[in-house]
Amino acid sequence: MNIATGPMSPDVAGLDLDSWSKGLFIGGEWLEGHGPHRIPVVDPSSEAVLTHVANADLSDAAAAVDAAAAAAPAWAATAPRKRSEILRRCFELMTERAEMLAKLISLENGKALRDARGEVAYAAEFFRWNAEEAVRIVGEFGMAPAGANRILVDYQPIGVCVLITPWNFPAAMATRKIAPALAAGCTMVLKPATETPLTAYALAALYKEAGVPDGVVNVITTSTPGPVTAAMLADPRVRKLSFTGSTGVGRTLLAEASKTVLSCSMELGGNAPLIVFDDADLDTALDGAMVAKMRNAGEACTAANRLYVQSGIYDRFVAGLTARMEALVVGAGTGAGTECGPMITAKAVAKIDELVQDAVGRGAKVLCGGNKPAGPGFFYPPTVLTDVPPDAAMAHEEIFGPVAPITRFETEDEVVARANDTEYGLAAYVFTKDIGRGLKVSRRIEAGMVALNRGLVSDPAAPFGGMKQSGLGREGGSHGVLEFTEPQYVAVTL
Ligand code: NAD
Repeated sequence: MNIATGPMSPDVAGLDLDSWSKGLFIGGEWLEGHGPHRIPVVDPSSEAVLTHVANADLSDAAAAVDAAAAAAPAWAATAPRKRSEILRRCFELMTERAEMLAKLISLENGKALRDARGEVAYAAEFFRWNAEEAVRIVGEFGMAPAGANRILVDYQPIGVCVLITPWNFPAAMATRKIAPALAAGCTMVLKPATETPLTAYALAALYKEAGVPDGVVNVITTSTPGPVTAAMLADPRVRKLSFTGSTGVGRTLLAEASKTVLSCSMELGGNAPLIVFDDADLDTALDGAMVAKMRNAGEACTAANRLYVQSGIYDRFVAGLTARMEALVVGAGTGAGTECGPMITAKAVAKIDELVQDAVGRGAKVLCGGNKPAGPGFFYPPTVLTDVPPDAAMAHEEIFGPVAPITRFETEDEVVARANDTEYGLAAYVFTKDIGRGLKVSRRIEAGMVALNRGLVSDPAAPFGGMKQSGLGREGGSHGVLEFTEPQYVAVTL
């Protein structure tokens, strides 16, 4: 493992952490939470406590919903052009402060600064895209087939939304929900992951500066997400849940949401296959595999979880990927030259190691990495495994770390069957110079998103989301904003 020379203790120089840990953001004000203790925020690179944030209890959650409900009529009545201009200002402010935000993300999440910079650009783009969408939410008007009346369809804001986000993209997973919700005319309560709350609070201050009215976006952190979320979902004023996180928590929330028949958009876990056919360009496939596997050090729902490589190119691909994985520089997220930062928690490292040891116990070969280093910091080395049998746990579960299990295949039918042998259906990657075959295979794979001859699929202008147990609904593109609307149909006799 190549260790970076960067700092292994928190380097907060230039970041005013106190300004983003002042309290819960409710009704445009910073309020102390009533939870039993403040929540520590830990630097995964050093294990040092960076600061503490407020802890919301049920009364704080109710106050946040009160604020969102009070702000709802005025925001829904705000002209789309005005909403669009505020969204555009959010984009501009995020872009102006990109370096500061990237450093903050890198500090609390641990991801390499270069990944954090990419995330800020991606996250800001949701504001630019939805600034353009806000003025293009058009209805429909036409003659009913029977000729007796006209059909008028109007897309109205769905109302107060509860947004729940994970720690792996602290900025982008929030803006992918907040920007379309604002464009549609909705108000909201965001509950970010407690591992990475500072980015959410830094952005909350930025929205206020950009002109988002008080109460339209509220942000609360809590050490008891189960009861706090359940209380908000049970509130009849809440009309929408938009969740990004694990499939397990998603199932629990769907059950909660069923009690009030809430509209749900769910962005859940993945188990992406990456398929390399014999005729693929080797460098394109290796470049793509490194991005698909190692963006965010493998902590991405879209991360390539299973790599299937056809016999004719197998040896060259395995040698090339192992060389690239071994060469990666591992270190503190904010460290100069770091390419692979730490994992989010000690628990995450233990889970990755358990999956690797399970595969090795079943006959997998370790070509590089494969063992947990001593601390401090929650590090796991870039790891390549071959001969991972289909019954290994990692063939069915998200690895969520820098581990690439490579399996040889012979035929297209065989690899399609293997790719689809999972309850997940989020992303997939296909490498072949034969575009006809690439498109045909893409269609046979049960995944909401397929990257053909590339390792990156996410794009604010495209519908992001999963099939099967990877989710419900889509974020981004023209689909994203519609998730925050309710179509109302009026039958009109002229
Ligand atoms: P997680 O499900 O543990 O937590 C996600 C969020 O849910 C956090 O804010 C957490 O505090 C909250 N939460 C946890 N238990 C809850 C409960 N009982 N009630 C209400 N809220 C609760 O997921 P994570 O570990 O933060 O993130 C990793 C997971 O997210 C992976 O499975 C990954 O694939 C998935 N993910 C999916 C997408 C996507 O777009 N499909 C994007 C990023 C991450």
